Formats: sequence, structure tokens, C-alpha cells
Amino acid sequence: MTQTLTGENLRAAKAKKVAVVGAGVAGSTIALRLAELGIDTTLIEKGPSLVNGPPFCHLHAGGNLYREISDQQCLTLLQQSIDTTKVYAQSINVRPTVLAVPTSDPSEPLDLLPRLEKLRAQYQVLVDQDASNEVLGKPADYFRLYNRAEIEAIGQRPLPEQAQCDEDWLVAFAKQVNLNTLKFPLVVVQEYGLSAFRWAAIANLAIERLPSCHVQTLTSVVDISPSAATGNGWQITTKPASYNSAASTDQDVQVTEYDYVVNACGFKSGELDDMIDAKRQRMVEFKASFVTHWPECQGLWPEVVFHGQRGTPQGMAQLTPYPGGYFQLHGMTQAITLFEDGLVTSCEQSAQPRLAPHFIKKIDNQWPDHLVKERTVSNIAHIAQFIPDFKSANTASQPLFGAQQIPGEDPDLRAADVSFDQQGYARAEIVKASSALATADAILKDLLDTGVITSEQAQHYLNEHYFPVTTQCNHDEITELAEQLARDRNYPEALARNFS
Ligand SMILES: Cc1cc2nc3c(=O)[nH]c(=O)nc-3n(C[C@H](O)[C@H](O)[C@H](O)COP(=O)(O)OP(=O)(O)OC[C@H]3O[C@@H](n4cnc5c(N)ncnc54)[C@H](O)[C@@H]3O)c2cc1C
Repeated sequence: MTQTLTGENLRAAKAKKVAVVGAGVAGSTIALRLAELGIDTTLIEKGPSLVNGPPFCHLHAGGNLYREISDQQCLTLLQQSIDTTKVYAQSINVRPTVLAVPTSDPSEPLDLLPRLEKLRAQYQVLVDQDASNEVLGKPADYFRLYNRAEIEAIGQRPLPEQAQCDEDWLVAFAKQVNLNTLKFPLVVVQEYGLSAFRWAAIANLAIERLPSCHVQTLTSVVDISPSAATGNGWQITTKPASYNSAASTDQDVQVTEYDYVVNACGFKSGELDDMIDAKRQRMVEFKASFVTHWPECQGLWPEVVFHGQRGTPQGMAQLTPYPGGYFQLHGMTQAITLFEDGLVTSCEQSAQPRLAPHFIKKIDNQWPDHLVKERTVSNIAHIAQFIPDFKSANTASQPLFGAQQIPGEDPDLRAADVSFDQQGYARAEIVKASSALATADAILKDLLDTGVITSEQAQHYLNEHYFPVTTQCNHDEITELAEQLARDRNYPEALARNFS
């Protein structure tokens, strides 16, 4: 049975104050991790709600979408995805991913095999260590290869209404994909989907229930400086972040002392670094995915990845299914998901990479309609190369898009978590949502190592994900709030539902 915190431990943990700036996936997970242990945490977010940054749809339990990254990054993402699934179970969309290599691609499907075998072996090790790690099915079934005859035979079956077994996810695929466009065998891997709206709902619900977490939304951090009063810790200056910020007056400015600051500002992390003259090399990349509805959609769809070389006209095409015939699409070409000059780097004078103003306008929700249509139509055509009937899909909403940070100098880095700078200052630097928990773990350890907190209880839970409040959020309340958030943000409610 899970141990509960005693009043005494709670008071001890509460003695010091932690500020987490930015309530995206990283910041809200860090705030949850600390507040679940009774640590006094203030989460400061300039937007109106939590987890409303760039989108995510794929858990990356093995990183198999990225042929170009190292095996070690894939193994790290596998472990982090398993941990994430255990804490945010209700945000997981359980369905497999088909990895298909098009005939136009120079590589062969079996090139993927050595990595898949490494991942399967590591998954087995993790399950042997702790049976609760078995969240992606049996390790032996982590991936399977299908030759063309097997796929054609599956295509003869009637369309199932619900998936009773993995092959049920392949019937619609087998019937509607032009198999002549693909090399065989196909790989089917237990990489699941991840719902951004459901994660947002869980974070909003759980944080509201944790007395140690104080949330300040619509609040911008405009300055940080070392604390003059104590010589330790930080002074944070905030202002209301009303969208009409010119209306705020000096009286609206708040200055508060904290013992520890976490910079979880996503692609704006460099702005906080600059406030305290902390040097950091990072990149920022603007990308978009497109939301479509396919009225003639038949049957259940898995996630499908048609591999291709990033940045070329044949860049990877990714089809992510949601209930009701809705699909989120990516096309890793300059005309679809990627953008000319969309990748920028920091410089010696500033840790904040500067995106061109037209990207910032889009982030502030000013996508010109013609561009939404143009790129969505291109993405539909990119997918229809392989699924001809998909050409009847249409634009369902504005894109899901945003800018993400990539620490360091390698634009292919996908598994990153945290860096520490001056005493009492940590930066969350995740590239994938599933790395948020590892970031929170490292920050908890730093708080203990540096003596900011001395709680025995926190020490005890250093190696255990203690999320009693978060994991108690139930399916129906999560769905209700996730649908509400989807409506508020002008996306179809279907994106907030899962397949269960
Ligand atoms: C098109 C696209 C598709 C993606 N797909 C996936 C995927 O399938 N799977 C996956 O794992 N990842 C995916 N990602 C990456 C993922 O979205 C990001 O890595 C993740 O959202 C980063 O989370 P974060 O919390 O670090 O930053 P953010 O979500 O950007 O959060 C930072 C927060 O800080 C706030 N903030 C900034 N400055 C201040 C300030 N001065 N004061 C107060 N608040 C401030 C912002 O308002 C924001 O809410 C995708 C990214 C894109 C662009």
C-alpha cells in the first residue's frame, strides 16, 4: 500500500519554496512530483491553462520513428515512456505503430531489426526487474514482422468494431494501403499514442487538488535576480500576462523570494537564462502537424509511419489516429511540417534563439487561413501517396504546432532532460514529453543534494514515482476536462478521447 505523508514531514518539506516557471508538460510534471511530496511549489504560467505548449501525439516508447538517432537515445526513451505510462496512464492511446519503408526509400525494412531487438531485450530486462513495467504488452510481442502475404490475408478479414487482438488494428490498413508502394516485411511495434489534451486535463485536475502547489496562470516572469535579502535563492518579478499587457501598471508587479527556481519555459527558456546571464547553447525549432477528418474512414487505424528522409520531398509521413475518423498528420518536408528557417540557434550574446517574427505570430495564433489550408492539403496528398482513399480527408481545424527547444548543437537530439547552472537554478530541457518525469526526478535529487529540502519522506521517494493524487484522476473526469480544453483551444473534441 502507498505510504502517506505525515503532517510533520509535510511541514519540514514546506519550509523552503520552489518556483517552477512555465507549466508545459515539463513544468507541470515537475510541480506535481514536488507537490505530491508536500514540497511548497509555485507554478507560474503566462498562459490561461496548463500544458498548452507545442503538441505531442506519440509516446516514443523506443524512438523507432527516428532512424537517425542513437540506440542509446532509443533505450532512454523506452525507459522514460514506461515510467510516463505508469503515472499518466489515462493519457495513453493504446494502439500499435506500423513502421513501413516505402519503395522510394533507399533503406531496407530489415535495417530496423538490430535496434528493435535491442529494445525488446531491454524491455524484457525492465519487466524482469519490476513486473509493473509491463505496460506495452508482453516483451516478446514488443514488435512483429509481417510479410506481404500475411498482410494480404489480414486484409480479407471483416473490419472489426473493436480491437480484440493486435491484428485487428491491421485490417483497415491492409485493405486500404496501396501495398505496392511499400517494401516488406512491415514492422508492427508497441509504440502507443499520447494525448496532449488528456495529459493537460490530468495536470490541471491533480494540481488543483494538491495544497502544496500554488498555481499562478496568466502571469509572466519578467525578471529574476539573486535574492538580496538572504544571499541564497532568487527574487522573481512577475506581471499579469493579460493579452493586453500594455494595460498592466506598476502596481501589478509582484516580487517574491524563492529558494530554488526551475526554468521550464520550453522554447523561451533562453529568456530566463538571459535574465541571470547564464550561458547556454540551444536550438529552437518551429514545426506543425495538421488535423484532418476523413469522413469515409473505415475501421480502426494504427499509427502509421511511412519512413522517409527528413527535409526532402519524400520526408517521413505520419498518420496518428483518434476516434471518429480524425487524424493528426505530419509530413517531414519543408512544405508541410518543417519550415524554411524554422531551426534557429542561440549565440554568444544570448541563450535565446530568435525565431523570425512570422513564426512568433503563428505561435500567437495568427495562422493565415490560406496557409492552414495549403499545408493541410499538402499533408493529405503526402499520406494519399500510400492510402489513395485518404485524398477525401479534409481540414478539421487549425494545425497543432509550436516551437520546441533542443539543448546543445545536435538537431537530431531527442532524449534530453535537465541541466543545472548556478546554485538553486535548474533548466528543464526536454525534447519529448516522456522525458518530463526524468527531469522532475533529477530536480528532486538536486533539491536534496544541495540541502534545499531535507525531508526524509522526499528522500525515501527519490527512487519511486509517488503520485497518489495524480494517478487517482479518473477516466470520466479526465475525458470531460480534456474535451473542454479541446473546445476552448478550438480543436475537435475527438482529439481528447482515447480508444478504450
Ligand atoms: C509539431 C510538433 C509535434 C510534436 N510531437 C511530439 C510527440 O508526438 N511526442 C512528444 O513527446 N513530443 C512531441 N513534440 C515535442 C513536445 O511538444 C515538446 O517537447 C514539449 O511540449 C515541451 O514541453 P515543455 O514543457 O518543455 O515546454 P512548453 O510546452 O513550451 O511549456 C513552456 C511553458 O512556459 C511558459 N512560459 C514561457 N515563458 C514564460 C514566462 N516568462 N513566464 C511564465 N511562463 C512562461 C509558456 O507559456 C509555456 O506554457 C512535438 C513538437 C511539435 C512542435
